[in-house]
Order: sequence, then C-alpha cells, then structure tokens
Amino acid sequence: MTDGATTAVAEETLKGGGTPPSRAPSKTLRSPWTAVIALAILLVALFPVLSDDLYYQNMIILAMVFAVGAVGLNIITGYAGYISLGQGAFIGLGAYTVGICVSDIGGSPWVWVPVAGVLAGLVAAALGVVAMRARGHAFVILTIAFLFLVQLLATNWDELTNGTGGITLPIPTWSVDYQYWPFYYTLMGLLAVSLVLSWWIRRNKFGMGLVAIREDEDKAATVGVSTPTYKILAFVASAVFVGMAGGVYGYYISFIDPLGMFNILLSVQIILSLLLGGRDTLWGPVLGAFIIEWLNETSNQEFQGGNARLLIFGGLLVLVVMFLPRGIIPTANRWIEWWRTRGKAGLAGERLTGIDLRARAAPAREAAEPSGPPLLEVKGLEKRFGGVRAVDGASFAVPEGSITALIGPNGSGKTTVFNLIGGTMTPQAGEVWFDGQRIDGKPPWQRAHLGLGRTFQITRLFREMTVLENVVAPLQGFHPRLLGADAVSGREARRAEDLLEFVGMRKYRDVHASALSYGQQKLVELAQILMLDPKLIMLDEPAGGINPTLIERIGEMIRELNAQGKTFLIVEHNMPFVLGMCNPVLVLARGQTIASGTADEVQRDPQVLDAYLGEDFRLEEPARA
Ligand code: ADP
Ligand code: MG
Repeated sequence: MTDGATTAVAEETLKGGGTPPSRAPSKTLRSPWTAVIALAILLVALFPVLSDDLYYQNMIILAMVFAVGAVGLNIITGYAGYISLGQGAFIGLGAYTVGICVSDIGGSPWVWVPVAGVLAGLVAAALGVVAMRARGHAFVILTIAFLFLVQLLATNWDELTNGTGGITLPIPTWSVDYQYWPFYYTLMGLLAVSLVLSWWIRRNKFGMGLVAIREDEDKAATVGVSTPTYKILAFVASAVFVGMAGGVYGYYISFIDPLGMFNILLSVQIILSLLLGGRDTLWGPVLGAFIIEWLNETSNQEFQGGNARLLIFGGLLVLVVMFLPRGIIPTANRWIEWWRTRGKAGLAGERLTGIDLRARAAPAREAAEPSGPPLLEVKGLEKRFGGVRAVDGASFAVPEGSITALIGPNGSGKTTVFNLIGGTMTPQAGEVWFDGQRIDGKPPWQRAHLGLGRTFQITRLFREMTVLENVVAPLQGFHPRLLGADAVSGREARRAEDLLEFVGMRKYRDVHASALSYGQQKLVELAQILMLDPKLIMLDEPAGGINPTLIERIGEMIRELNAQGKTFLIVEHNMPFVLGMCNPVLVLARGQTIASGTADEVQRDPQVLDAYLGEDFRLEEPARA
C-alpha cells in the first residue's frame, strides 16, 4: 500500500467535513456545576430549619413535586425520545391512591405512599403496552388521551372517588412546630431517589438502549435492542416515583378532585421544566422545575392565575422551543466549552485525519468455493407496496462460509429483501430460514441475537453517540441483569476498541458519529455489527459512494473476516468488486431471483446480460477488489 493511497483515504474521510469534529463533553466540563449543585442542595436542605417562611417552603415543596415529575419524564422523553403529555396523570393517580386508601381502609397517609408508587408503575406498564406501538405524534396524542381518560374515570366513578365532590385527606397530626417539614423532606428524599435512578439508568446498558431508540429505533432493533421491553421499562421507571410524589402532594394539599389533579397544565409544567432545564441531563429537569414553579407563583400573584397562567406557559413553551431548544444546562455547557477553547486552535482546528491503511494488507485471493449447508435460505419471499411488487417470490440460499453477492438493477428489490431478512419489514408470503430456524415472524432484535448482522444502504449510526458508544450499543442477547451493566466499560469496551482498530477508526472513538464522513460512518457501522459477533453479515452497497482506496480496504476486511469464518451476503453495484470476491452470485430482477452461480456463469447468462449487465458486458479479468 502506498502513501498515495493513504492520502486518498484521508481525503475521503475529510469529505463533507468542513465542520470541526464535535467531541463528547469532557468530564472536566461538569466541574463548575458540582459546586453550584452542592450549594443548591445544601440551601434547599437547610432552608426550613433556617427560615420559617411558609410561603417559600410551600414553593419549594411544589417545585420538588414537579421536579420528581420532570426527572421521571426525562427517562422517557430525554433518554428515549418519546414525548409524554400524560405525565401529570401519575401525580393524580398517586394522590387518589393515597386519598382513597385512607378514606376506605384507614391508617396514616404515609403508609399508602409506596402503594401509590406501585400502582403508578403498574398503570404505566399497562399504558406502555398499549402506547408503545405508536410513535411520534400518535404517541403524544395517546398520552393526552390517557390523561383525559383517568380524569373521566375520577369524575364518574363516584363510589370510589366521590366524583367532582373530591376527597378530603386528614389533617396532619404532628406538632405545628414542625411546619411542613415531613412533606418537605419526604419529597426531597423522593427527588434524590429519582435522581439516583435517572443517573443509574443513563450510565448503564438500559440507558444506552433508550438513547439508541431515541436516535433510530429501527436501527436499534436490528442491533439487538428489544425495543418494546426497553420502552415499557422506561415508562415504569418514569412513573413510580412520580406516583409516590403525587401521594405526598395529595396529602399536602389535603383536598383532591379530578379537575385539579388531572389538569393538563400540570403535565405542561412538567414538560416545560424538562425542556427548559435540558433534556437528557441529570439536573436540567430539577433546575427547570424550580424556575417554572417560581414563574407559576409569580403569575398567580401578579395576574391572579387563571388564563394569564395559560398564556404565560403557552408563550414560554413557544419561546423555549424556538430559542432554547436544548435547554439551559446544555446551552450553558456549550458556552463554557466555547469559552474554554476560545483562541486555542486545539479542538476547532483539529482535523479528522486519514485511516492508516498500512496496518494490515491481507493478500487478495480468489473467491473460494462455497461449502457447507445453507446458513440462510429464503423461499418464495413476497413483499408488495400498494401495487408495486418489490419482492415477488424471491428464493435463494447463502452457503455457510461463503461471500455471496446479491446483484441486480436499481429497484429490483435488493434492499427490500434485506429488510425482510433482517426483520425491519414483514413479508406477505414466503419463509426465511437462518441457521436451521425459521425466523420470519421473529422481531429484528431476536434475529440479531441469533447472529444476523446487517448494514444499511444509507448508513445509520446513532448520531448523538460517540463512535465508541455506537460500537458498544449492540446487544448479543437480552437478560434483565444486562440492563444494569455498565454501558461502556470492561471486556465489551475493549472488544469495541479492537473492532475499531480493525476498521481503522480507533482514534475517533470519542468523536460524535454525526461528525464523521460518509466513508468513516460505513466503517463504524461495520465495527458496530461485528460487535454482535454475527454468523451472517449482510452489507447493503458497502462500496457505494466511497473512494476506490477505501473500497479496496473494505474488500480486504471482508476477506479477512470471511477467513475467520464469517459468512457474507453483499448487495453491490461495483462489478469488479463483486465478481472478484463473491461466490455464488445471485441475480435479482423485478423481485425474482433470475440466476445464481459463479461469477463466470452469471456473466454469461443471457437473462442476466439482458436484465442487468447489458449485452456487451465482459469483465476482462475478475479484478482483485
Ligand atoms: P433496490 O435495493 O434493489 O434498488 P428496493 O428494494 O429499494 O430496490 O426497492 C424495490 C422497489 O420497492 C422499488 O420500486 C421501490 O420504489 C419500492 N419500495 C422500496 N421500499 C419501499 C417503501 N418503504 N414503500 C414503498 N415502496 C418501496
Ligand atoms: Mg437498495
């Protein structure tokens, strides 16, 4: 390999790279916050002892209720990317649970607070099962519907809830000397536990899966994340402590009714707290909740609440979305980062440099004879989109240990076949067999766990994750214990680094995927699916849109992996690349397999020449890709 070749790759990797690489925020960035947070915690903790101003105690109590709500919402909205406008319902559910239990069964309201948490969790799980089929706007609407549904239930289920008459809770029995302290410190404790949960989730595999879902849910499924399980668990985690806080809140305000408890404004305030403070941050929701509660109180004082409050919150929502889309904490972090690096050529001037191609140049070899039984077998696969028969009875087999090519004109259904095999689409007819099992009907993550890895024609990385995070995100299986495992550490992280080394991308491990060039993304996506340790690797146009040197390098990697026992199924238009390396070659036209055989046989097949290669196609000598 010459130096010229290295330069060519370097140029490729720089393409589209006018922007400096965005690195993951460094640990040191958080240090200015540590002092601020510690001081704020101390202030809040000592406030009731130092001051007996009940007005502010009340404000902080309400702020903490919203904060618990917003920290919970952050799990489903900030991490997983699902916006819920029904979060306020869990406050109401918690309050009602405590209210009903106290008036029907008796005992101290405190006893029922944990029950409120359990019930909120159960309802969240049930809601999750229903709502998790919906995405985007449909999901938001479902959560609003849920809020109104519980409100309707609370209004009309008279025997249980006393309808619009509401429920009055007993007056606290402790000495007035203690003011609101029990409420105050219980809520502070709940907020602390919610924060610990939120922090714990974000740093382990569970959180990593949620972020993968936020970034690209279908892709997350193909790399082994069992998306429904993750989403339902996230929903439960986001509701349990909110339910408990709601129970305390109900006791605190001592009167609960459907209008007050299931007011959509409560949910709006929670969302607003999260957006204002900063999604996907630990402290953002807390900061936001305190600001929102202060605004809430001010507007009540200055404008007598009511419609003015609606106007203020509506207006603020618009302003935040327009001018502070990332929220206060992320924006402040950016400013701090800018301030620290200003004038220093360091980060901004740093360029992504080329991949070192000299590291390993495996000798090229002729396409090997396919051996063994089929690892993948497709029988009579059909997929229609309206009137378009994208896949129309395709049948073929991929021998174990082979590098099989799937070629054919544009629109002949190659990508659709990949989607049907990988599970991102379901066929209308036909069967897919993999490693002795029938897999059509299985969800994508189960297919990934069985050893099926695929890349996408247009690369799909988790853009907000770093390169290393992208590579450790895939999961080879599912086990509840896995959820609690560190996201990036130990043997897996080392393996991910080795794979990045293999594809020549190790030095970019801390760069955000969104800063990579197209060719670099392809390499990282390859490392990503290798993390699944797949038996079959399906590549959709691996050589498309990248320069010849990188194509050559990818060819070498495929050969090397194949020599290590990986089977490949490759869709590609670059004929020298395909014909020099693949055996057998399958030809797809109008959704049907019209030929299969060695490169030589396929090149001479009149049907193939007619449908794809063209009358006078002749590859002089199979090039060594
Ligand atoms: P190839 O990868 O061989 O170029 P595709 O599998 O992408 O072909 O597409 C096959 C046919 O199916 C094309 O006519 C395409 O327009 C159609 N098609 C693919 N995906 C969809 C979709 N999601 N919705 C509707 N039509 C689709
Ligand atoms: Mg395609």
